[in-house]
Amino acid sequence: MPTLEELFSQVDAAQDDIIALEQALVKIPSVNTGFMPTGDETPVCEYARDWLGQDGITSEILESAPNRGNLIGRIEGRSGKAGLMFMSHTDVVPVEDDAKWRFDPFSATIADGRIFGRGASDCKGLLTAQLMAVRILLRNGIELEDGLILAAGADEEHGGRYGFGWLADNYPEKLAAPYAVNEGGGTPIQAAGALTYVLGVGEKGRLQVEIDVKGVSSHASVPWQGTNALYRLNRALSAIEDYDPDRDTSTGLFDHLSTFAVEHKASPENVDDIIAEIEPDNPRFASMLRALSRMTLTPTMIRGGVKSNSVPEAIRLTCDVRTLPHQDEQYVRDQLDEVLSGIPGVSYEIDYMARPNSSPFESDLATHIRSVTERAIGRGNIQWVPAISNGFTDSRFTRPLGTVTYGFSGSHPDDDPMLNFTHGTNESVGIKSLVSGTKIMLGLAYDMLAVK
Ligand SMILES: [Zn+2]
Repeated sequence: MPTLEELFSQVDAAQDDIIALEQALVKIPSVNTGFMPTGDETPVCEYARDWLGQDGITSEILESAPNRGNLIGRIEGRSGKAGLMFMSHTDVVPVEDDAKWRFDPFSATIADGRIFGRGASDCKGLLTAQLMAVRILLRNGIELEDGLILAAGADEEHGGRYGFGWLADNYPEKLAAPYAVNEGGGTPIQAAGALTYVLGVGEKGRLQVEIDVKGVSSHASVPWQGTNALYRLNRALSAIEDYDPDRDTSTGLFDHLSTFAVEHKASPENVDDIIAEIEPDNPRFASMLRALSRMTLTPTMIRGGVKSNSVPEAIRLTCDVRTLPHQDEQYVRDQLDEVLSGIPGVSYEIDYMARPNSSPFESDLATHIRSVTERAIGRGNIQWVPAISNGFTDSRFTRPLGTVTYGFSGSHPDDDPMLNFTHGTNESVGIKSLVSGTKIMLGLAYDMLAVK
């Protein structure tokens, strides 16, 4: 059996194939607008299925709706059960204004050591790395003890109802693995002079809260005969603006602040001071710490009133709420009750768009990610920090299935993650990151699954 270092040199030698695969995937415009019919992920799945088929790997396409395919490939091991799952998604967000792009967003043009295109970074780069890792594993005849699942879902960009959400509901057995690697982490950052990688261990919850404010309608010429719901809304909005959430430093990242040259141990009492200290030099990190140290409650939309000459009796205020992993629905209700207390005619409903979720920072997979990454990029002494993200990924569907899931794409430290412009104009991925990502995915499969 080849050594891991030999496999890594094969990845280096396969750079042109990696680039070609990424380009082919980016050129398939699997744009997800969120309004059906949309997504068109099946052609991406078919391309990947045929590509895997060249090495005799069978995979299946499961469509949740016409043309909304989900790809599941599986390499069996001796044990018959899977030991690891590679996750990614095949849909991409729409292009806002292609005139602003340096290149056609679906041309996958190479420039400055990067491949440009919508989805190049999110998430076709990770899919490329995972497909390539599978191919090299197979071509070396490496036998597996536990099997490897490759799952690429549809609809990640619009909530996953046609993708991993649907797979988890309908085919949980096809996703059954103790560990999974997905997008949503693996970004290298320079902190206090040391190379630091962020491992995505969890995601804040997202809730939509509908606050109904009731009054009594009357003709606007005699407003004293009614109760104007807008004045009650005004009180509710002021109370929300003044909401002072509990500070919370229980998220794992706060145990690793020394990595960022923050000397004090963070506590709810001093976290705002720490954030203020970091802010001038590192506003992005300060913003992340702010988000990870509290629940947020943000009014975003308003509807109400029926006529310009009627006192409105019903207003609906929509709020976006983000919760930390341990802040449950009761916590949210307690907070809302407190904020809205004393304002008459107000009631609310909570709708979960995404439950907060997390995996432990220490696990067998985390240990392997650390050691494989050091070898793949040839750097020792890497610092690791666990991160909870503000946004969410398909990991929220696999964590409740009992799968320890990490966001880790294996970007190369020479590629500036700020250049990825995920969801933005001129999205791109560094070629070095495609290569390092492939090595890391391959290394994980080799270390964790191969028969030794
Ligand atoms: Zn994504």
